[in-house]
Amino acid sequence: MRIDVVTLFPDLVNCVSGCGVTGRAVERGILDLHCWNPRDYTEDRHRTVDDRPYGGGPGMVMKVEPLRRAIHDARQADTVPPLVVYMSPQGRRLDQDAVQRLADLPRLILIAGRYEGIDERLVELEVDEEWSIGDYVLSGGELAAMVVIDACARLLPGALGDEDSAQQDSFMTGLLDCPHYTRPEVYEGRGVPQVLLGGHHAEIERWRRKQALGRTWQRRPDLLEHRVLDEADQRLLDE
Ligand code: SAM
Repeated sequence: MRIDVVTLFPDLVNCVSGCGVTGRAVERGILDLHCWNPRDYTEDRHRTVDDRPYGGGPGMVMKVEPLRRAIHDARQADTVPPLVVYMSPQGRRLDQDAVQRLADLPRLILIAGRYEGIDERLVELEVDEEWSIGDYVLSGGELAAMVVIDACARLLPGALGDEDSAQQDSFMTGLLDCPHYTRPEVYEGRGVPQVLLGGHHAEIERWRRKQALGRTWQRRPDLLEHRVLDEADQRLLDE
């Protein structure tokens, strides 16, 4: 998958190439990450990328031309047509289904805004979709773009050490994940659930499923609202 990020802070976004799952994905050539700085597409001495808002008011707005030129070059850098996404608190709220759909695409261009945001005409001319990472306002779209990059990367085949580990993550099956334990077996008087020590795989699977169902029911009942549980799951939940 190729992801191009249009950002005033490429160093910040490129951090994902240096560590963890995203770093491994880049290293293995599974994720191809590029940044484009609108400042490199300015024509004045001060490399101006923002200006005062028409109509007055506080803050600055990102100018349309440098952004558009950067997006143009990002588009041209590969023959695969990209989906162009503006990271914005006004976009649809990102969830695992949306991430899965984005991760299935061969190519994304993510636009990270700054200041009060970007000139609306850029959105009209270049943007296919707007996505938010939650109902709060960040100072810039870089962290939001990094969230998308990370969440997509872990879904790319070959990015995770253990291929199955994404499959049991929260939301992948519409449920929250079960609790996890590792050594020591007893910590401050708290033991690991006995079933996990017995090596009986069917029993362990059953316990995990029950935990996942119970946790989802307790913590995120909304996830179960439109879900028809099969008999086995219903029995586990009732136990
Ligand atoms: N004035 C804008 C508003 O209220 O809708 C907020 C601008 S914010 C200070 C600057 C940039 O941060 C935005 O252009 C966007 O790219 C990014 N941003 C802020 N919050 C975000 C969120 N929740 N999800 C995605 N991007 C966000």
